Amino acid sequence: MLKSIHAALAMSVITLTALGASSAFAAPLKVVASFTVIADFAKNVGGDRIDVTTIVGPDGDAHVYEPSPADAVAMAKADIVLVNGLHFEGFLQRLVDASATKASIITLTKGVTPIDFKPEFADADAAEGAGTGGGKTVTDPHAFQSIANARIYVKNIADAFCAADAEGCVSYQTNAAAYTKKLDAVEGEVKAAIASIPESKRVVITSHDAFGYFEHAYGLTFLAPQGISTDSEPSAADVAKLVTQVKLDKAAAIFVENITNPRLIEQIASETGIKVGGTLYSDALSQPDGPAATYIDMMHNNIRQIKGAILGS
Ligand SMILES: [Zn+2]
Repeated sequence: MLKSIHAALAMSVITLTALGASSAFAAPLKVVASFTVIADFAKNVGGDRIDVTTIVGPDGDAHVYEPSPADAVAMAKADIVLVNGLHFEGFLQRLVDASATKASIITLTKGVTPIDFKPEFADADAAEGAGTGGGKTVTDPHAFQSIANARIYVKNIADAFCAADAEGCVSYQTNAAAYTKKLDAVEGEVKAAIASIPESKRVVITSHDAFGYFEHAYGLTFLAPQGISTDSEPSAADVAKLVTQVKLDKAAAIFVENITNPRLIEQIASETGIKVGGTLYSDALSQPDGPAATYIDMMHNNIRQIKGAILGS
């Protein structure tokens, strides 16, 4: 009996000590990430000093996402909100307004060199509708598809966390440096994978133009019937034009994307006789048990799918 009382007392001393120790640290930073890629970067930089809530989840489409009341609650409670910017998150301003959040909104493409998108197949009217005021070019928001840009996102996240939590700054910078080294290694693998594909075969088809930065950085050409957003359907003429291009042997492989309906790609595949090569992860990561649960896994998956479809390996 006495022994068990001692044990109970010892337990409560341990509990109190643990509580005392944890209260010596600041509570975790409450971070909202607009979508899964940013959430993954934030976890790699923040570790257990942060709590991350993701607005557009796995396989979600940020272009057409409709925020929920729970998103507004998370925004209202946040210390920091991390967003892509370049009009990727069409829902963002409505959500900021609805939540009346006092959080700092950090745009992670700050410092990225934006790429203009010139519609090749997608309707010029659709591009105008995306807010160019009548011009035919719009800024491509998918900057995270270049690993060089991912390094900029990671640096911007570390800077934002340091500004909000000076005590954790060394930890954030150490984590960011370690993760950046991993990104460097993956970039080497991507370049080697593309180099192994004959130049004449470096043209592939996806449903929407999410890979402009990948194309620019690594030299693989992507054709897409839909423009840089998924919010409009391509015209029959655009699809016919793409089918003609494919029949002229201009594309070596065709892929569906995790965030878009595969119907259009399946139609193009059946009209051209090219087999669908697999799924590329464009604007969102997969579920945790899927093939692209992290940004690095996404890059690995995409180059494996592309190489496999083109080279048949
Ligand atoms: Zn997109």
